[in-house]
Amino acid sequence: SFKKSLGQNFLTEPAILNEIITTADLTTTDDVIEIGPGIGSLTEQLAQRAHEVLALEIDQRLIPILADTLAAYKNVTVINQDVLKSDLATLVRDHLDGKHQIKVVANLPYYITTPILLRLLDSDLDFTQIVVMMQREVAERLAADSGNKVYGSLTVAVQYRMQVDIAHIVPKTVFVPQPNVDSAIVSLTKRTDCTESANDFKAFSRLVKGSFAKRRKSLWNNLLALYGKDESTREHLTAALTAVDISPGKRAEQLSITDFVRLANAINL
Ligand code: SAM
Repeated sequence: SFKKSLGQNFLTEPAILNEIITTADLTTTDDVIEIGPGIGSLTEQLAQRAHEVLALEIDQRLIPILADTLAAYKNVTVINQDVLKSDLATLVRDHLDGKHQIKVVANLPYYITTPILLRLLDSDLDFTQIVVMMQREVAERLAADSGNKVYGSLTVAVQYRMQVDIAHIVPKTVFVPQPNVDSAIVSLTKRTDCTESANDFKAFSRLVKGSFAKRRKSLWNNLLALYGKDESTREHLTAALTAVDISPGKRAEQLSITDFVRLANAINL
């Protein structure tokens, strides 16, 4: 029986498994971390192509099934852990050899797509590529350009470091049981074009979240709500906006990633 609460929608269509594998472009120079192997359909494909596979599955009922499905593969380690509680860096140190590049490949549990992504990006691990199936709506938010109505703080947090590409849109009919929404295979790779970075990442994140707090209000009103409305704060904010040439009447969705980085560094609060 499936556990809906754990986001258990298993992939059955070989063509879709193949699309994930092809997007990840796996070779024996890659180690793979898989989140939520389920009954192991994707895991098997990963094991056939990669050097080592480290898979984290929260549902202990699936562990013996996985052991059975994957018995023929000597390069797979399945760990019965919650990805949101596990220490990925330690798991990697204990189970992978450190000589191969690491990719994350997974059909994610959708109820925790965002926390998983943020955790991966916040970890100190240097992933070459992240290829994940997620709900289409979240994929579109991650990939949005500024000016798009779904461009928001999650978009900025992810695109700050990663190039986001939607590789395939996947219909809900290929899963068992069917989820309520369509899905997308998303590829995240490190941006090579970042010239500027935030001096203080926490301050940058706070600015981004605060700027989008009331989407329909101006950047200026959101900044006042975030930093305070007193005279000296207003003067400080005005000077910062002027220094980076951003009009206070803009709305957050009109700011590029670089705009946010420059503004955060100029505000310096
Ligand atoms: N990879 C399989 C497939 O494609 O058929 C299963 C994907 S299913 C969408 C998500 C899997 O993630 C389930 O097996 C579920 O038990 C597991 N899962 C859910 N929450 C988890 C968590 N916090 N940590 C690790 N695995 C989790």
